Amino acid sequence: MDLSRQELVIGKKAQKKLENSKIAIVGLGATGSLTSELLVRAGVKKLILIDRDYVESSNLQRQHMFVVSDIGESKVRVSEKYLKKINSKIKVKSYFDNLDHTNIDLISADLVLDCTDNLQTRFLINDYCKKNKINWIFSSAIKGHGYVFNVLPKGPCFNCVFGNLSSSDTCETVGVMNTITSLISSLQVNEAIKLLINKEPEKDLIYVNIDKNNILKIKVNKKKHCEVCDEIYDYLSGEKDQKSIKLCGHGNYLFEKKKKIDKKKFKKIKDWGGVFRYKEMTVFPDKVLIRTKTKKEAEIIYSKYVGN
Ligand SMILES: [Zn+2]
Repeated sequence: MDLSRQELVIGKKAQKKLENSKIAIVGLGATGSLTSELLVRAGVKKLILIDRDYVESSNLQRQHMFVVSDIGESKVRVSEKYLKKINSKIKVKSYFDNLDHTNIDLISADLVLDCTDNLQTRFLINDYCKKNKINWIFSSAIKGHGYVFNVLPKGPCFNCVFGNLSSSDTCETVGVMNTITSLISSLQVNEAIKLLINKEPEKDLIYVNIDKNNILKIKVNKKKHCEVCDEIYDYLSGEKDQKSIKLCGHGNYLFEKKKKIDKKKFKKIKDWGGVFRYKEMTVFPDKVLIRTKTKKEAEIIYSKYVGN
């Protein structure tokens, strides 16, 4: 692969550093698929990819590596094949799995990139990276806005900044533009390159809004008495796993519903006076019943449509 154009900008030494780095990417949706492609095209040769989803038709609007014939295939498998077409020399370890506290060691790398749509996983990554002093980059995009934030061992952590957040909005329920996901991905990769070649990374939280064309840098500070900065890792120990889940009968999973769900977000729902059904979910005022074969599938549907 001829990387001469990039080498002119960052220099030979930095290019070598980049090529010798190992990067873990969690989530291969809109940001993750473009982020991994940009990194491979920038010369990164060692990647760890983790994703628990199959390619669906609704992904093609914004998820770069996937085409119609990939529908139904696991995202990690399609991604690995695609990335090796760009550079056959790359080494990819791909895991078709849900990242949780039992397999969190999979992301052991020089840098971890969060490309999930899942708050619980981000807190878990935060615990792991803080404990092991690994840089990680948070990214998120929804509707027409998004964030990128470098979480560095000595700076404010994700819990310092987003500790009180409990958003129930997901791309499945409120939508997302492909223009914001690609922009957020570019910013994330740009920060990743800076961190990997020891260039000064952005310290502020980056906020982008494409409705107003705003790019803001928001100053963030360490939170006083942040549990994670005080070395209490509740997500890593499994203490804060979704405990509300209960198995009741074969293939039925029950979740306590802690958030109000806006029914307007769902199309074509069947409503029976306060209780409504959407795909595999039956939503009651205080709980959600999900019919799937495995607990993992139920958790995926819950975090997709209800949030986490
Ligand atoms: Zn903190």
